[in-house]
Amino acid sequence: MAEQHRPHTDTPPAAAPAFVAALRSAVRGASDFGAAARALTTMDASNYRRVPLGVLAPRDADDIAAALAVCREHGVPVVARGGGTSIAGQATGTGLVLDLTRHLRTILDLDPVARTAVVQPGVILDDLRAAAAPHGLTFGPDPSTHSRCTLGGMIGNNSCGAHSVAWGTTADNVRKLSVVRYGGGSLHLEQGSGTGPEGVGALVAAHLALLRTGYPGLPRRISGYALDALLPEHPGGPDPVRAFCGSEGTLGVVTEATVRLVEAPRARALAVLGYADESDAADAAPGLLPFRPLTVEGMAADLVTGSAGLPRGAAWLFVETGGDTPAEARAHAERVLRAADAVDGTVVTDPAGQRALWRIREDAAGTATRMPDGTEAWPGWEDCAVPPARLGAYLRDFRALLAEHGLRGAPYGHFGDGCVHVRIDFDLISAGGVARFRRFSEETADLVVAHGGSLSGEHGDGQARAELLPRMYGSELVALFHRFKDLWDPDGGLNPGILARPAPLDANLRFAVLPGRPVDVEFGYPQDGGDFAGAVRRCVGVAKCRTTEASGAGVMCPSFRATGEEAHSTRGRARLLHEMLAGEIITDGWRSEEVRDALDLCLSCKGCRSDCPVGVDMATYKAEFLHHHYRGRLRPAAHYAMGRLPRWLRLAAPLARPLNALARLRPLAALAKRLAGIAPERTIPVLATETYSRWLLRRQGKGTRILSSDRVVALWADTFTEHLYPQAGRAAVRVLERATGRTVLPPPRGLCCGLTYVSTGQLDAARRVMRRTLDRLRLLPGHPLVVLEPSCAATLRTDLPELLPDDPRAAELAASVRTFAQYLEEYAPDWTPPRLDRPVAGQTHCHQHAVLGDAAERRLRERMGLSGELSGGCCGLAGNFGFEKGHWEVSVACAEERLLPAVRNAEPGTELLADGFSCRTQLDQLAGRRARHLAEVVAEAVEEASTAVREGRGDGA
Ligand SMILES: Cc1cc2nc3c(=O)[nH]c(=O)nc-3n(C[C@H](O)[C@H](O)[C@H](O)COP(=O)(O)OP(=O)(O)OC[C@H]3O[C@@H](n4cnc5c(N)ncnc54)[C@H](O)[C@@H]3O)c2cc1C
Ligand code: SF4
Repeated sequence: MAEQHRPHTDTPPAAAPAFVAALRSAVRGASDFGAAARALTTMDASNYRRVPLGVLAPRDADDIAAALAVCREHGVPVVARGGGTSIAGQATGTGLVLDLTRHLRTILDLDPVARTAVVQPGVILDDLRAAAAPHGLTFGPDPSTHSRCTLGGMIGNNSCGAHSVAWGTTADNVRKLSVVRYGGGSLHLEQGSGTGPEGVGALVAAHLALLRTGYPGLPRRISGYALDALLPEHPGGPDPVRAFCGSEGTLGVVTEATVRLVEAPRARALAVLGYADESDAADAAPGLLPFRPLTVEGMAADLVTGSAGLPRGAAWLFVETGGDTPAEARAHAERVLRAADAVDGTVVTDPAGQRALWRIREDAAGTATRMPDGTEAWPGWEDCAVPPARLGAYLRDFRALLAEHGLRGAPYGHFGDGCVHVRIDFDLISAGGVARFRRFSEETADLVVAHGGSLSGEHGDGQARAELLPRMYGSELVALFHRFKDLWDPDGGLNPGILARPAPLDANLRFAVLPGRPVDVEFGYPQDGGDFAGAVRRCVGVAKCRTTEASGAGVMCPSFRATGEEAHSTRGRARLLHEMLAGEIITDGWRSEEVRDALDLCLSCKGCRSDCPVGVDMATYKAEFLHHHYRGRLRPAAHYAMGRLPRWLRLAAPLARPLNALARLRPLAALAKRLAGIAPERTIPVLATETYSRWLLRRQGKGTRILSSDRVVALWADTFTEHLYPQAGRAAVRVLERATGRTVLPPPRGLCCGLTYVSTGQLDAARRVMRRTLDRLRLLPGHPLVVLEPSCAATLRTDLPELLPDDPRAAELAASVRTFAQYLEEYAPDWTPPRLDRPVAGQTHCHQHAVLGDAAERRLRERMGLSGELSGGCCGLAGNFGFEKGHWEVSVACAEERLLPAVRNAEPGTELLADGFSCRTQLDQLAGRRARHLAEVVAEAVEEASTAVREGRGDGA
């Protein structure tokens, strides 16, 4: 094995008690110096990791000032943190982290006439845009992280996005700033009122020539401090606000900002232009700028997985135009199309069509976080910019340099502004790989400079690029940067190691602390070469899981949306697992209570498996963790009660009637719930008095003989259908037999997918159960297995082969799984389901969304005239989760997010659908509403149609 790159740091120090006491007596906001709080903030979305002493959530500007005063007194460095989505290490630090997202998220004023807003630093960009939208206004800069990045972080990084060709960077859109300095003093910055702290004006005056000639001219110059904004000839006069923007938390902490709002076009159109290759597209981009487009985005074919709808070509420009009416926006886009020297092109005006095309571009950005073959790709050189006219030439040279270093990456980005994104398959683990990362960074910096560019064109220098700034600006100007920093922060307490006097670009790499050898684990982790550390480091920190509102069919991450705590986001949990493996601050490995507590509120909904751009699968990691955490120890009661549910239900089946009667006696039910670790607010579900398989036997009669395997359907009798909700099974049998003319096979006894054992981390038992199932189940070769319960189907599809990777029968069974609608599509393509023509509401099961997909269900509903959308997100019950003691509030909050409002607002006559037993139970227990499995609705319709035929009223189905 190659020698592993080792960190330069020793075990991180803990906060001194005197500092903690002084801080706590000076501020009102909560501070946390525990292992979990520190672990959660060791990283941003970069390759770097710095362990802080602790985290403070200040309540207001006074708290920030007081904290900075105490920190200076005790020599503790400070880093301000918003969403922590920075890609160059600048949102991490070794001292006190100021979490500005907890309390400082108020929009203090919005003046539609003056077109300004006054915001606190923790305001999320999307919240500001939502507040401005009713006035026809928006905040122009739009990083892709708009759903979770903060205005403070945007100012810190001078962020921008696809619309910068129209509205510029954050620096172009900030009017005033209130800033607190290290030590507690504050300053108000505004153009026309000085240059900032004392001495800055004199520094500028003494170096006018250097400042006038030292900066390259290009729209996306994000690197370094913008000292040229302080020149006397700067339009409108010296602008300390502009000079502060992009200072990455190294000068002061913003406590309030007045920002400019711009008019949002009433209508938009999109011209997509095809070119022979990426450099042709890049060469064409500057020629489109005179048409004043809103965006000029570029990408090449190597990032496109589904190119449906794209015009011919091997690279494309996405040019958005605006207008007062759709016709005006279209005419604008058509002018662009006519003028563009493209191989092919298309103009789209309808919003759905535009969204579909934009999705291809956005998916390309997501794809870029991994290589097309699924291998790892990392930031490090992902946002440089050159003058737009040089972009084509730069890209040709850049691709050649990549090849020279044996590296791979697929560039894309804001071609109209000459800014290129790319994730590269650096090896940041072995010493040789890290050395190559350094060489490549140095040579690419020279290449960018040779093209007149900026090392950072969007995300900031942080630790990744700052060391290379002398190559871009020369050592004299960089020395001036250091003096500017010293005038603002003479003690050097604000974000040291970043931007000014930076740490080396290959120090503090976050992978260095992970174990060099694969950790001994239970799941197979096929996407990560069997390496749990590889699975955990998948999380690059893009923080899509921190989005506070789920949209469309999206699920991730319901627990974060319920609590708003980083620890309950997918990223937070991945960070805690990372630190558990690192062993520096979380030192008790699998026994860690910090990790257990953070995972406790994970619903195992698998939402992250599909919605996270890098496919973090926290439900699996949680099962893995619980297995090791409780190995050889007493588990929570719920694990015995609900984890072993299939066994208890089998034993209880013959006594269903008396047990149901006993469960209705309140004191007895309360006692049973207490003993079983069930939330007292829950009602114990009713046992079926006749199981599904007994019903099937009764229906088919003893001695039913199946003569040909082509005449049968294998229907899985999951625990829920078998013992708690056999009506779904009964309905499915009727429909499947009617639609296919085949007979449903009676299920073998004692089969189980192992779901409840997996979700409670009883993985030895899960494996035993799964092996028994494989022994007993005789799959008919080439025949699928219909599974009605989405969570069981997902377990068979994913957990089974990952827990039994060496058993070929597991992979075979996984591949055979079909949902009810998938089976009907495949095996009864000519069958016409009866029409019901009514609206639907209800829940798409989170596992269906994440693992199986619901396209077939949607098509079946459409064919039946069942209109409308089911809710995305998670119902909040999620198997055992919502029943477990301590989970009631989060479970209800998840249901209240989308499902319950949708059901409450449904018009009369709406059909309530939920294929998951959990979702139906949640609706029943929280809303008193009965939802049904799609199979039940189809069965009822089939029967009604048959009755109608018998009575001479219709054609049947
Ligand atoms: C997938 C992905 C896509 C991205 N796309 C874009 C993009 O399109 N355009 C773009 O510009 N960036 C992009 N970024 C980078 C990043 O998301 C943006 O720069 C974002 O605006 C940072 O906001 P944040 O709240 O996460 O800030 P953080 O990362 O928390 O902080 C950013 C910097 O600002 C400092 N800071 C935070 N608050 C304050 C304050 N109150 N006072 C002073 N300094 C402060 C921090 O110390 C840090 O140095 C992307 C990142 C990711 C992971
Ligand atoms: S499984 Fe669901 S609840 Fe758990 S981290 Fe992933 S998205 Fe969040």
